[in-house]
Amino acid sequence: MSAIVRLPVFAPLAECKGCGACCKTSPGATVPDDWGNPPNFDMIRDALASGRWLVDWWEGDPRLDSAQVLRAYYLRPAVVGFEGEAVAREAGFMSVEGQEGTCTFHNAKRGCTSTVKPAECSALQPTATRECKAEPPQGYRRWSQRAAELWLPYSEQLIALAWDVKS
Ligand code: SF4
Ligand code: SF4
Repeated sequence: MSAIVRLPVFAPLAECKGCGACCKTSPGATVPDDWGNPPNFDMIRDALASGRWLVDWWEGDPRLDSAQVLRAYYLRPAVVGFEGEAVAREAGFMSVEGQEGTCTFHNAKRGCTSTVKPAECSALQPTATRECKAEPPQGYRRWSQRAAELWLPYSEQLIALAWDVKS
């Protein structure tokens, strides 16, 4: 796979200044389709083993019409300085202090270097004021809530892989 090597990280729009600030706050969430359809769990295992991806979670049930799930998992890149934490702590789960920061795949000169582009990054909407963000679907509090919902059918695989990579 070839690396994605330029900013903007989404369809080029005039409003984007290519400043990279969006990649320096919080890495975007992936959805299962980002890893193939069906998702390629060998690929995900390798990604977790690299330390540059982690299993993050949405606290509570991410579905709008359900309250049955206490925590819903999804995959996203690690933050610079916290690579490897995904497998070093709690079987693939990240520490609170590693939630915000520069994405491990952000390169100041080349932009995004990830071979898997998180759907949340693709959904980012640049604005002239650089208050750029991915608007979640109606009713969702954050884009990662929707991502966590889409990952729900794969929760057990994600957790099992995280433990597997850790051991
Ligand atoms: S989307 Fe916004 S924050 Fe991201 S590079 Fe473009 S202008 Fe900067
Ligand atoms: S995966 Fe790429 S586009 Fe998304 S936050 Fe990281 S560097 Fe930016």
